[in-house]
Amino acid sequence: MAESSSKQRIKLIIRGIVQGVGFRPFIYQLATKYSLSGFVSNNGFGVVVEVEGGLESCELFLNNITKSTPPLSRIDSINKEQIAPKDTTTFEIVASNANMITTLLSPDISLCDECLAEIQDKTNRRYNYPFINCTNCGPRYTIIENLPYDRANTTMRKFTMCKVCKIEYNDPKNRRYHAQPISCYECGPQLNYLSLEGVTESKNPIEKICSLIQEGEVVAIKGVGGFHIVCDATNNRAIATLREKKVRPTKPLAVMFPNIEAIKEVATLTKEDKKLILSKERPIVIVSKKENSFVSELIAPNINRIGVFLAYSPLHKLILKRLNFPIVATSANLSGEPIILDEKEIFAKLPHLIKHLLTYDRVIVNACDDSVLQTTPDNTIMLRMARGYAPFSLPLQQKTTKKILALGANQKATITLAFGQNIVLSPYIGDLGSINSTEHFLKMIETFKRVYNFEPDIIVCDKHPHYESTKLAKKYVATKDNLKLIEIQHHYAHSLATMAEFSLDEKVLAFCFDGTGYGDDGTLWGGEVLLASPQNYERLYHFKTFPLLGGEKAIKEPKRVALALLFEQYSLDEVLAIQNDFNANEIKLLHQLYIKGLNTPQSSSVGRLFDGVYALCGYTQNLNYEGESGLILESLKAQTQDSYSYTIKNGIIDYTKMIPQILKEKDRATIAKKFIQTLTQIVLVISNKHPNLPVVLSGGVFQNKTLVMQITQMLTKAKRRYYIQNKTPLNDSGISLGQIYFALNNL
Ligand SMILES: [Zn+2]
Ligand SMILES: [Zn+2]
Repeated sequence: MAESSSKQRIKLIIRGIVQGVGFRPFIYQLATKYSLSGFVSNNGFGVVVEVEGGLESCELFLNNITKSTPPLSRIDSINKEQIAPKDTTTFEIVASNANMITTLLSPDISLCDECLAEIQDKTNRRYNYPFINCTNCGPRYTIIENLPYDRANTTMRKFTMCKVCKIEYNDPKNRRYHAQPISCYECGPQLNYLSLEGVTESKNPIEKICSLIQEGEVVAIKGVGGFHIVCDATNNRAIATLREKKVRPTKPLAVMFPNIEAIKEVATLTKEDKKLILSKERPIVIVSKKENSFVSELIAPNINRIGVFLAYSPLHKLILKRLNFPIVATSANLSGEPIILDEKEIFAKLPHLIKHLLTYDRVIVNACDDSVLQTTPDNTIMLRMARGYAPFSLPLQQKTTKKILALGANQKATITLAFGQNIVLSPYIGDLGSINSTEHFLKMIETFKRVYNFEPDIIVCDKHPHYESTKLAKKYVATKDNLKLIEIQHHYAHSLATMAEFSLDEKVLAFCFDGTGYGDDGTLWGGEVLLASPQNYERLYHFKTFPLLGGEKAIKEPKRVALALLFEQYSLDEVLAIQNDFNANEIKLLHQLYIKGLNTPQSSSVGRLFDGVYALCGYTQNLNYEGESGLILESLKAQTQDSYSYTIKNGIIDYTKMIPQILKEKDRATIAKKFIQTLTQIVLVISNKHPNLPVVLSGGVFQNKTLVMQITQMLTKAKRRYYIQNKTPLNDSGISLGQIYFALNNL
């Protein structure tokens, strides 16, 4: 068909996540659909397209680019320019040049519907194939050693494509066109069962591992970003063994289900929960647990929540189809350490727990845990950002001339990079502290530097002198000339992370309720209200400080916080008389510590205040994981709408009067409810004093769903503009993002 009107040629530069996600074949198909000639190619910014044809065809093409983009792509911007026609006749996909550094890495993505249909189809050549993938799904970050994203730069390198796979790979009309991890039974990775004694079974390893799970064994299975420890989620004995041998007494265990119907049997899902569980990221979602359901009570003891997720890789899908019951699937690691990547390490580190494992011979180069999120009616709270979400990128409005590396905090470590027009946040890798996790952290820094061809001009870290990340930052700077170091206060970084996610460039009223972080005055902050902008901050209010008896020990032993709160206003004899739940000798001993002021740093932390209230409720046991006290308090149900007394004077939020009121209460549930309502009131009252400032809620305490729901509902009612991180973690994993935002705004 001849083009009647004048021919035109349009050049597009498309930025965003547009490489390695099927973008070029998508453009190819769109261009050929409208009979346009020209080409599409990758370049250092993203994708370059030139199309030539009639006016109407060009317009249809342009209109459809943003309408039906490939599922894993994200367009940040399109630059359009009219150029002179070149009289081309065909449309071509131009091959990548090795010098064209890919802009952004795509995270690993769960099995897509089309691949799922294929593994269920007996006539398909990939029927039941555990490593099926296509341009829309499969491993990415976890297998990439270098960029550009080509098979040769991934751990799929050692698997030579068979003839049939190669044809699919080279066909622009095929869903697997340039799907780098493409493979099949003929040419792909092999599954293998392995026992601690060295027995192997490669004929039907899925059947072997499933029958062991069915018999009540605790096993390990290699997933996308590392190993899971797995057992039958309905088997109390198996879970008790797992807990005992992993030394994980109460921390909730995630449960993987074969389908959403099975999840509904054990949990009450909101529509937001359901949407998130079924999303292509397939994260662990913390939802409301039903009472007396068929899964074991040992999965999430003492709380009314449960972490659930769906089988997300083809291998998991096949395992759960065979079992047809949910499994506990928790990251294989030692407490706080990064997830374990290879079988030798599993047997070396967990020989007392793991005697059987299912593995395969595609190497995982970059560790990546499962992501953990929860929803409220208005917000999504990211508790752990990893598989499916990370590396996470935010586009920058303005290009940065400096390369910046932020090393984050010490717990829930992440790094963030800024270069060109991008901010890139790494996945969560665990707590720094052990030699092993610090090594992983260093390895991740090296990987990001290599992949993005990145050598920092500026390093940003926390002000805490004892954080591993701070020590590393200082070491780096000491070894290189012209490398600048910026140190940022922890809670200011929390509020900056929120500003980064929403690209805020104004003054905000930031409520930073957190565990403990190093404050400017040498005390441990964590209950701060800051007047903050991307340039600076002022501490407007803070919770009245109290001593942490024994320093770090007080984090694990909430009674130390409760006693400190009591010692602040009662004599030793009075405390001995009112406190029945603690051992008298212990009280006396801690009182000595209090009087002498030995190892008793002052803290304004709301996180610790939660712990103190938890202990005042009569809970005497130590805490096993972060946020446990809050989760237990949240699960108590009471009717009251009341709150406790407090005063706000000279910038100090004084809750002293709350303590005797708590002591008079008859039941725990009332205390819990009134305490959370008191915090809500405090946020409202302070917000009202600053009616023109947008409100920011940041810090680990806002992982508490009840608190967030109450505060946000109240702010909405008051017609206040508020911000809480929805895409990035608001706990310490977000600190590196906040640090970067400061550096970017103060170059
Ligand atoms: Zn697929
Ligand atoms: Zn093949």
